[in-house]
This record gives sequence, C-alpha cells and structure tokens, in this order.
Amino acid sequence: RIARKHIHCRGDIDMLTIPLLRIYESLIPPEEEKEKQRQLLISLEKLVVNEWPHAHLFLFGSCANSFGVSNSDVDVCLVLRDADIDKSEILLKLAEILQSANFQNVQALTRARVPIIKLKDPVTGVSCDICINNVLAVVNTKLLRDYAQIDVRLPQLAFIVKHWAKSRGVNETYQGTLSSYAYVLMCIHFLQHRDPPILPCLQETKIVTYHKIVDNIECAYFDQVEKLKTFGSDNKESVARLVWGFFHYWAYCHDYANTVVSVRTKNTVSKRAKDWTRRIGKDRHLICIEDPFETSHDLGRVVDKYSIKVLREEFERAATILQTYPNPCEKLFEPF
Ligand code: ATP
Ligand code: MG
Repeated sequence: RIARKHIHCRGDIDMLTIPLLRIYESLIPPEEEKEKQRQLLISLEKLVVNEWPHAHLFLFGSCANSFGVSNSDVDVCLVLRDADIDKSEILLKLAEILQSANFQNVQALTRARVPIIKLKDPVTGVSCDICINNVLAVVNTKLLRDYAQIDVRLPQLAFIVKHWAKSRGVNETYQGTLSSYAYVLMCIHFLQHRDPPILPCLQETKIVTYHKIVDNIECAYFDQVEKLKTFGSDNKESVARLVWGFFHYWAYCHDYANTVVSVRTKNTVSKRAKDWTRRIGKDRHLICIEDPFETSHDLGRVVDKYSIKVLREEFERAATILQTYPNPCEKLFEPF
C-alpha cells in the first residue's frame, strides 16, 4: 500500500496556489468577530470573579490558537486554584449564574468526558463552551499559536485541511474521525519533515524559554518564535505543493502499522515503543497521533476499524483530485 501511486506531483501544481490561498483568505475571521469574542470573555470574567474572586478565565482552542476559521465556537477555560474542587458542583453553580445573566441555551454537561457548560451570548450571537481547570489545553493552544508564527504556510495548510475535513465529514470525533486539534498536529508534523524543514521541533531546541508543570506533566519548549521567522526560508515549496504533499503522505506514504506522529521530537516514534500496537480497551491505535505534552494520550484513539477506512479513502480521494483534476478546488471541498 505504501507509496504505490502518484510518486511525482503534477507539473503545474503551483498554479493551484492562487485558488487555494483565496479559500484560505475567505476563512480568516474578520476583526469584528475577534472583538466580539473578547467582549464575551470580559462579560464572563465579571460574572465569574464576582462569585470566585481568585478565578481566571482563559481562551483556548481555535479562537486562541490562530487556527480558527470564521464563526467557530469560543472555548473558555475557568481556572480555580483549589485542586480538589467538585467540577460538577461548580459547573451547576456557574450555569445558574449565567442563566440569571440572560445568556441563552445554557446547558451544564456534567457527565461528559470533559464536563462543560454550553451557552450562547445574545448580545454578540457567539456560542461558547466553558470547562474547568483544563490548563493543558491552554498550554497546547499556546504551542499551536507559537508554531503558527514561524511560517505562514502552516496556517495556510491547516486552514485548508480543516476546511476539507469539515466539508467531507471527517472532523467528528464522536463518529470516529479526527479532531481539529489532531489535524493541526498532523500539519505541523508534516512541515517538520519536509526537506529542508519548514518548521522546527520547538520542544527539542537546546534553549527552553517557556516552562510550566501542569497536572504533573512538564511542558517545556522554546517559545521565542519571533527569532525563528526565517527557519523555513530555505524551503521554497508553494502552498499547493504542500497541500498535495499532505494528502499524498497520508494516502500513500504514512506507515500506519508502525509509526506514531509526534511533533515533540524529530525522531521517528514507533508504535512498539509506546505499546500502541494493539487494542487496549476502546483504544485501537489504528492511526497514532501523540499529544505533545500528555504523551500517553493518542489523539487517534477515537478512530475505529470502520472510520480508519473512511479516513484513508478520503486522503486518497483528496490526493487523486489534486493530482488529476484540471480545477480541483471545487471538487476537493465538495460536501460528502
Ligand atoms: P474548531 O475550529 O473545530 O473548533 P479547535 O481548535 O477549537 O477547532 P477542538 O478539536 O475543538 O479544536 O479542540 C479545542 C482545544 O481543546 C484544542 O485546541 C486543544 O487545546 C484541546 N483539545 C481538543 N482535543 C483534545 C484532546 N483529545 N486532548 C487534549 N487536548 C485537546
Ligand atoms: Mg473549538
């Protein structure tokens, strides 16, 4: 199965850069949307601090990691210093406060894997999820945002991949396909392994400028990314070539049976080394994507024997369309 098709990219691939960049630009949220998100955070902060004076609110996920397309939900994390709090109790209390403050559709999902409150702000029309003490998500949001500063081809590639995944119905973890977070990590990994590389491994540089211990996990990396602006400049590949290369890699080159995608290290990580070679409980490890900090966590664990087939067929479809269609852009993002 490996590398059996389309070894060489079509000769006129670079011509697709203009239409692909047009799509990328159309997905970028306008400044007023960012402003609405900030306003929502401020109004939530007032309510929260009134009840819990030492609490802090952080934005995370796509509204803060610079991989957010227009009209995304806002992910907010409420951080309370006290370690042994009852999250359900806090969420129910907060839901009550939010309801009295006239937020719409307030729902406390206290029994979800990550308990959250869902709500809609009637003033800005923005929908929002609030979780508690999910500090690792705040830190991995920063890591993604820092990577995005290094080379603009990362946000360009990732927006296109996310848009493709949403259009094709393969961005649904409850159906066994991958989260947006997993797709962005796949893009980072792909760009770290171009020759010459377009991105460094920020967790592997000699100097550590950011250091935090969260839930007993050491989160350390080089975050002075403004010093890395020229890191990828020896690589002249166009966005179109990278988009094609991404799908081609996942369709024909990735060794699903033996390797783990890890942005943490430049070395190849094997499934054997992590003991991710067999099914353990519900985790089948059919496509392995290691979380950069919580390294025991495989973001591909939601993928089952049916959805792996769907995913691989979608990667092949995308690679074939980009390789063979005269005007592939419309077809690539066709709703499934
Ligand atoms: P979208 O635009 O689709 O909303 P998103 O960037 O908000 O994209 P999600 O997959 O909804 O992506 O995840 C939100 C955030 O939650 C991620 O940025 C990440 O910080 C965190 N996160 C999501 N899934 C996981 C996971 N399985 N393990 C650890 N953190 C996760
Ligand atoms: Mg989100």
